[in-house]
Amino acid sequence: MSITPIIGQDTLQKFIFDNASVRGEFIDISATWREVLSRHAYPAPVKKLLGEMVAAAALLSANLKFNGTIIMQIHGDGPVNLLVVECDAELHLRATAKLAPDAVIADDATLPSLLNASGKGRFVITLDPADKMPGQQPYQGIVPLDGDDMATVIENYMLRSEQLDTRLWLATDDNTSRGLLLQKLPHHGGKAEATPVSEEDALETWNRAVMLASTLKEEEILATDIDTLMQRLFWEETIRVFDPLHPSFHCTCTREKVGNMLKMLGEEEVNSTLDEVGHVGVNCDFCGQHYDFDKVDCAQLFASDAPAEVLIPPASSIN
Ligand SMILES: [Zn+2]
Repeated sequence: MSITPIIGQDTLQKFIFDNASVRGEFIDISATWREVLSRHAYPAPVKKLLGEMVAAAALLSANLKFNGTIIMQIHGDGPVNLLVVECDAELHLRATAKLAPDAVIADDATLPSLLNASGKGRFVITLDPADKMPGQQPYQGIVPLDGDDMATVIENYMLRSEQLDTRLWLATDDNTSRGLLLQKLPHHGGKAEATPVSEEDALETWNRAVMLASTLKEEEILATDIDTLMQRLFWEETIRVFDPLHPSFHCTCTREKVGNMLKMLGEEEVNSTLDEVGHVGVNCDFCGQHYDFDKVDCAQLFASDAPAEVLIPPASSIN
C-alpha cells in the first residue's frame, strides 16, 4: 500500500480568557485525519463521527494534561460496532472503526441510528498512565451514549466525569477536521486569579464565549483556519494564548505486542490457524501494518515463560 505524503502540520492552540473564568482550545487536526483516512475506506457518516472523535480526543488530552494515553471507545449496538481513538500525552493519535458484518449505512445516518439503535451503546474513556506501577489498572469511565451528535456525547461525558461545563464545536470532511473546546473554570471567589473577578462576571464571560462560539457554522469551521476563527470570534476579548502544540498520526503497534496478543489468544487457537493455512497473519486495524508468524515464530511465542501483558486488547484482525 502506498501512502501519500501529508503536507501541513496540525496545530492545537490553547487559550484562556484574561479573567481566568474560561479556557479553550482550537484544533486543526486535518493532516492526522488524512493519515487515518488514507488507511481506511468508511461510509460518509462513519467518517464524520470518527473525524470529530479524533479532534475531540486531542482536545480532551490537552485539556486533562494527563501523562498517559487516552483511549476513547464507542461501543455501538447498531451498524457500527466500535469507534476507537487513542491519543497519548505527546498528542500522537491513531483511530479506527469497526462496522457490523453486512452493515447497511445510509448517507444521512445519524449518530443514534449508527451507534445507539436500541439504547445499548456505551461511551468508554480509558486513561492509561504512562508510568504505571506493576499491576496498576488504567482508569475507566463508562457512560451511556446519550446525545445526537459527537460534540453532545462528549459534553455529557465531561459534565458527568469532570463536573465542569464543557462545550465542543466539531467539523469534519474528507480533508479537514477542526474543532473548538470551551470550558468554564471553577470560580475561586476572585482570590486565585491575577485579576479578581466576581462570580457574576465569570458567568457572564462564559455565557458570552459560548454565545460567540455558537455562531460558528460547520461550513465556516471547515473553510477557515483556526487563527482566523479565533480572531473572528474573540476579537473584542482579552485572551492569553499559549505556545501551540502539534498533534500527529502515530501507530504504537509492534511485532512484540502482536505476539503478546497471540499468546492471549492461546496456543490451541493459534495452532488451529497454523494447521489450516500454515502461518498466522495479523493486520493492525489502526495503521494496516501486516505481521506474519510462521510455525517457528509461534512455537517460540509459546515456549517463552514471559506472561502475556496486554491490558487493552489491540484492535487487530487475524487472517
Ligand atoms: Zn499499527
